Amino acid sequence: MKVMVTGGAGYIGSHAVLALLDAGHEVVVIDNLVTGFDWAVDSRATLIELAVEDPAVRDVLREHDVKAIMHFAGSVVVPESVTDPLKYYRNNTAASRSLIESAVAAGVAHFIFSSTAATYGTPDKVPIAEGDPTLPINPYGMSKLMTEAMLRDVAAAHPINYACLRYFNVAGADPAGRSGQSTVGATHLIKIAVEAATGKRSSVGVFGTDFPTRDGTGVRDYIHVSDLADAHVAALELLAAGPEQSHILNAGYGRGFSVLEVLDAVDRVTNLTIERKLEGRRAGDPAELVADNAAILAALPWRPKRADLDGIVRDALAWERKLVEMGK
Ligand code: UDP
Repeated sequence: MKVMVTGGAGYIGSHAVLALLDAGHEVVVIDNLVTGFDWAVDSRATLIELAVEDPAVRDVLREHDVKAIMHFAGSVVVPESVTDPLKYYRNNTAASRSLIESAVAAGVAHFIFSSTAATYGTPDKVPIAEGDPTLPINPYGMSKLMTEAMLRDVAAAHPINYACLRYFNVAGADPAGRSGQSTVGATHLIKIAVEAATGKRSSVGVFGTDFPTRDGTGVRDYIHVSDLADAHVAALELLAAGPEQSHILNAGYGRGFSVLEVLDAVDRVTNLTIERKLEGRRAGDPAELVADNAAILAALPWRPKRADLDGIVRDALAWERKLVEMGK
């Protein structure tokens, strides 16, 4: 199938491009290259430097006869969304509205959207199921939930179906070393920890030690980026097989690790003792986010292949070392 990947030069998008190409699909990437890198896009894909909100997107969709869109482009830093909410409503919500409009105008049949566990806010219980209340506690989560709502309404009015994958904590890198997280100024725990392992930073802050969790630190459901990319390809096949139906699916493994457990894994894998600085809680951080993944396991033939935490850290570390080698 011909698939447009927005944000295909970014972290998760570049892995989806690899998964699509490896599965035999044809890929057109659009990316404005503000946070992504042209060198992150596999050379088998066509890369067009274009913003998702640009009306020229519909010409690209028509010229390339695109049947499906995977929409990764957007802003992803939760604390930044609190200080600059309008950036998130522009880059995530408004830009998605324009893209969906282009998709409808060009007759695109399927749409897969990068949504987030942040749509749930602070859950009443874990694991969290898709039917649980969606009450985001930050503009990032709300900007994504608003896009979910647009897709629901548009799919009811036009011949397009969609899947929203609500990601838990994405980490790791392509096991073959073809891509990884290259984000400058990253804020995510595993990326920060492997940066500390390669000497890019001297220590790792532990944000909060008084959460009601087994060791007082935040618990998250870390999913390997390549498993997540494979889930997108499986979701695409599901949408094509049942064009009348759309899906909202948690993308996680259904198990959580605390910050300290993650840092223990990094020490094990690196054979180092990375300095930990115990700090106060970060604004807006829930204690525990773990997916109930029964729905995705029932809907897709997809099965996690890389859930081992040490393996996730090992792949993240290998990519971090490669970045150092590449001088990035
Ligand atoms: N965290 C931390 N130190 C860091 C970055 C993150 O202790 O330098 C914690 C954070 O408070 C949360 C978990 O690690 O409990 C995962 O945070 P991350 O930013 O990776 O993802 P989020 O869950 O916020 O999307």
